[in-house]
Amino acid sequence: MTQQLARTAGTGGSVVVDCCQVCGAADLESVLFLGYLPPVNQMRPIGQRPHEQPAYPAELLQCRRCQLVQLGLIVDPAILFPPEYPYTSGTTRILRENFAELQRESTAILGLRSELVVDVGSNDGTLLENFRAAGHPVCGVEPTLMANLANERGVRTIMSFFGPPAASRVVAECGRAHVVTATNVFAHIEGIHEIVDSVLAILDDDGVFITESHYLMALIETLQYDTIYHEHLRHYSLGSIAYLLNMHGLEVIHARRIPTHGGSIRVYASRRGARKALATVDELLAEERDAGELADRLTAFRRRVAKSKVALHALLRDLLEKGSRIYGVGAPSRASTLINYVGLDREILDCVVEVKGSYKVGKYMPGTLIPVVDEARLFEDQPEYARFLSWHIADELIPKLTARGFTGGYIVPLPEPRVVRSAESS
Ligand SMILES: [Zn+2]
Repeated sequence: MTQQLARTAGTGGSVVVDCCQVCGAADLESVLFLGYLPPVNQMRPIGQRPHEQPAYPAELLQCRRCQLVQLGLIVDPAILFPPEYPYTSGTTRILRENFAELQRESTAILGLRSELVVDVGSNDGTLLENFRAAGHPVCGVEPTLMANLANERGVRTIMSFFGPPAASRVVAECGRAHVVTATNVFAHIEGIHEIVDSVLAILDDDGVFITESHYLMALIETLQYDTIYHEHLRHYSLGSIAYLLNMHGLEVIHARRIPTHGGSIRVYASRRGARKALATVDELLAEERDAGELADRLTAFRRRVAKSKVALHALLRDLLEKGSRIYGVGAPSRASTLINYVGLDREILDCVVEVKGSYKVGKYMPGTLIPVVDEARLFEDQPEYARFLSWHIADELIPKLTARGFTGGYIVPLPEPRVVRSAESS
């Protein structure tokens, strides 16, 4: 029995996922429930008394038919992605490097010259900038005010949510594209079939669709339950993304793991038969199969998540009993899930430090009264411990913070909570 979900967009509310977002099957197994979480980007100014705010159930489901792991509730994107949505891809070094690498890799694999490249969810134009510099005409589609930033830097960008009208506009204004990219957005948009159809409407006959998403296998391996929040509607394996693309006559021709967001997957697809698939596809599919039955792995994952929460409490209890001050480091979206699921508040985490100039400085972490302050405070106050919230890049951050003079210990909360002394890392 195949059904289609009602749309959330425009309702101002949410829709419960009672059939698979991709294949429509009603056979959905509950994998994990993290409780009710506030929208990650609704941050109140410091000093403002707490206002009424929504909280949405965060349940992860697995489809028994197509294996897709997905969120059990879809929230109106107008709530999750307001025009002032603060995320800028250009500010994260690892993302900038990844996009430069994507341009080099796709040019080498596809033999690109000067074909049109379209990026869906193009943010501030960081990815397209690489193709533009290499001589490609480019066009971005981006719903937030980041579109203005991109246009100001010369990356042509249409400010719109992506879908059939935006696709028609791209084709009318720029023609059909040889490459369409969608990085870290393909998991974010409801009505995924319409999105794939809209990509196909833009793509020329032997064109290639390249998509990057957080990778389900990385999520399981390194216990990244903190990537579960309402912006991430689907957590793809190569198997489940291939299932989706196949439904639209697309075939995966290249796939590999990439390091962004703590472990992502990059997938190339073309119209079936248009291009020859590289060996990388079968290799990664085999790796997924060899890792074991997904349902069993998810059951083990659920137990590990619960244990990790309790272990983190135990670690923090010992430190607090000694009177230690603990500052959080970094306030990415995923920090909100970790803080709210584990149940941290300002008595446990004195504050969270963020880079100077971040719009998050001067606000409270979502759902708490933990203030976000300028990172200079970490070096001035020298708390006994710095606890990573962007823990997936802890290895990159520890030497940097130590070099800048932080002398306390570091707490890495996941996958196993651990304390690292400054001296050990240098
Ligand atoms: Zn399914």
